[in-house]
Order: sequence, then structure tokens, then C-alpha cells
Amino acid sequence: MELMSTITEMGHEEVVFFHSRDLGLKAIVAIHDTTLGPALGGCRMLPYKSDEEALYDVLRLSRGMTYKNAVAGLNLGGGKSVIIGDPKKDKSEAYFRAFGRFIESLGGRYITAEDVNTAVDDMENIFQETSHVVGIPPAHGGSGDPSPFTALGTLRGIEAAVEYKYGSKDLSQLSFAVQGVGHVGSHLVRMLRETGAKVYVCDTDAGRVRHTVEQYGAEAVGLDAIYETDAKIFAPCALGGSINAETLDKLKCEIIAGSANNQLDTDATGDELEKRGILYVPDYVINAGGVINVAIERQGYNRERATHQVDRIFDICKHIFSIAQREGLPTYKTADHLAEKRIEEVGKVRRPYLPARRRPINGRHTLS
Ligand code: NAD
Repeated sequence: MELMSTITEMGHEEVVFFHSRDLGLKAIVAIHDTTLGPALGGCRMLPYKSDEEALYDVLRLSRGMTYKNAVAGLNLGGGKSVIIGDPKKDKSEAYFRAFGRFIESLGGRYITAEDVNTAVDDMENIFQETSHVVGIPPAHGGSGDPSPFTALGTLRGIEAAVEYKYGSKDLSQLSFAVQGVGHVGSHLVRMLRETGAKVYVCDTDAGRVRHTVEQYGAEAVGLDAIYETDAKIFAPCALGGSINAETLDKLKCEIIAGSANNQLDTDATGDELEKRGILYVPDYVINAGGVINVAIERQGYNRERATHQVDRIFDICKHIFSIAQREGLPTYKTADHLAEKRIEEVGKVRRPYLPARRRPINGRHTLS
């Protein structure tokens, strides 16, 4: 009963549990809101400790996708899927094809993509059974690795914040602290260094740090020292929750702008940043480059169009900063309001034109 009330409270349209007896596949798909279009969001695979933990994760993540897709200007709703399994042991062609058949059974209301512990190869296997998947290999007309586009969007968000704060989007005289130099972070470091900016980096993986130091001329600092550098811009590109009560007091930066999801541990931290005059670029706005890029696959993938649309993150961020200033709100809250407003307004436009649903009557399909 408690699970059902959690679903009701979070306002999801549909939550579907899948189980394949033969392959041992256990998955949950959560469709949060399809006002703007079919729900799009990645598939995460983890050995969750309990079914409840998996359910809570998919409910939270799918809701986040509704907001992300709405602010990015996509005609897509929010959804997500989780597979309860061990990515090191359970993955196989059949396993992901079975997942593809589950997705197909939803009739296009949910479109899946890569996420934590799923990759392009897995999407290719899903694609054998359904067309409702993006992030497939270029050989099938897909867009491949989304990370360079996420990094590009992050750079645009940084430029918007810098222009808003300092009056010019020139990054060359500035310094940056990039926390986490994996797929997205390393592309971001490359692009920042190309502008001539100074870049401090850290990562738990020493090899990744070495790569950015040797390839791009970044300066390595320790995992704790990254918060306390003299960099004006702090870019979290590792895990969530790195901006919290403990790290807030260490930060010397004036802007927080990075690709990581769920950067703020709580809303109170976002309010505190606002009080301290640190400009926070909302995470799901600045890191939307990847989803924008994969969404374009649905219209026939075109790299130039993808780049153009990802560039728009600059304008979206500027818009959020100006509304936040006008209304005296923290930026994270302003982004939420913007998403809710778009869903409400576009919902009104679309509702009368939704195709009539077909319902079987006496074994025949007729319009209702
Ligand atoms: P990744 O796993 O390739 O890179 C993350 C890096 O952070 C790794 O190198 C890891 O060693 C490092 N790291 C982990 N804990 C750390 C710590 N405490 N301090 C410093 N470094 C640490 O992941 P990614 O694809 O580059 O994504 C980075 C972030 O951006 C994630 O939060 C992800 O959810 C988010 N994001 C990624 C994409 C994308 O297109 N890949 C899109 C949207 C959001």
C-alpha cells in the first residue's frame, strides 16, 4: 500500500513492472508525464538492494526527466526505466532483447536510452525488438555517445553564466575547477583549455587525471582541494550531491556550472547559494545536451541540427537567470517553474488535437 501511495504522491501516469521468467530479467518502467509527447529517459541497470529502492529510483528519475525535457524545449515527456540486475554478470543479447520486447509492449509511450551501466551495445540489442529506443549506433542511424554533446551544452551554460555575471562570455582569462574528468568532464576540460582558460581537475581515477594533464594541460589537485581552489567557476562533473552543507563553506567560486545530475543535496543548499551570491546553473538545464542529441534521432539524426539545438542551452540559461533576478527566486526553483509553465501551456494547446482513442467494441475497433 505504501508503494502505491508513493506513486500517487509523485503524480506518475503509469508504472509498469516487467519480469521474464526464462531470462531472470526484472525491470520497472515509470512514465511520469506525457503532456508534451512520449516519455523519454534512459535505462539504468543496478543490483538494487531491494525492489523498493529500485522503484523509488525510477519514480524520482522519471519525474526529473519531465522537467529536463520540458525546459530543453523538447516535445517529449518524462520517463525512465531501471533493470534490477548486476551489469557485470547478467548482461546478454537475449536479456536486452527481452527488455526491448517489454518496451515494445508499451506502444511507444516510453522511449528508452542509455544511462548508468547501459551502453550503445545494449541499445543495439534493444533495437532488435523495438524502434522505441535512442542512442543506438551510427550504423543504424543513431547518434552514438552523447557525452560530447552533454559537454558542449555544459560549455554553453558556463558561457551564459559568465556573461550574466561578468558582462562578457570570454572565458580565456578565467579559471575553472572541474570535479570528475570522465566522459563528459574530459571533453569539457578540452574545450575550456581551447579557450585559453586555466583548469584545475580532480578524479578518483588517477589515469583520467593524468590524461587531462598530459593531453590538455590541466592542473591536477586533490579530491578535497578541488572545492578550495581560486577558480571562479566550479564544475561538478562526477556524482550527485557534491554541493552540500559541508562543501558549501569550502567553496570560493562565484559560479557553479557542471554536468553532474542532482548536484545539490537539498533545496536548502540551493537557497543558501542564492543568499551567498553564488550563481548556480540548474543541473538538468545545463546537462540536457545529451538528451537533446538523442532526441534528434527520432527525426532522422542530423549532427548539425543537434549542435544548433544544444547551443540553445545558452539562451535557456540566460532566460532562467533573468526570471530568477526579476522574481527574486533561486535559479533551481525558477527552472522548475519554467518547466511546469511550459507543460501547462503546451498542454492546453495540444489537448483538443489529441487523436481520439480507439477502443474495441464488439470485437471491432471504433473511434470513441
Ligand atoms: P563518468 O562515469 O564517465 O565520469 C565520472 C567521473 O567522476 C569518473 O571519472 C569518476 O572516476 C569520477 N568520480 C567519481 N567520484 C568522484 C569524486 N568523489 N571526486 C572526483 N571524481 C569522481 O560519467 P559521465 O558520463 O562523464 O557523467 C558525469 C556526470 O554527468 C554524471 O553525474 C552523469 O549523471 C551526468 N550526465 C552525464 C551525461 C552524459 O551524456 N554522459 C548526460 C547528463 C548528465
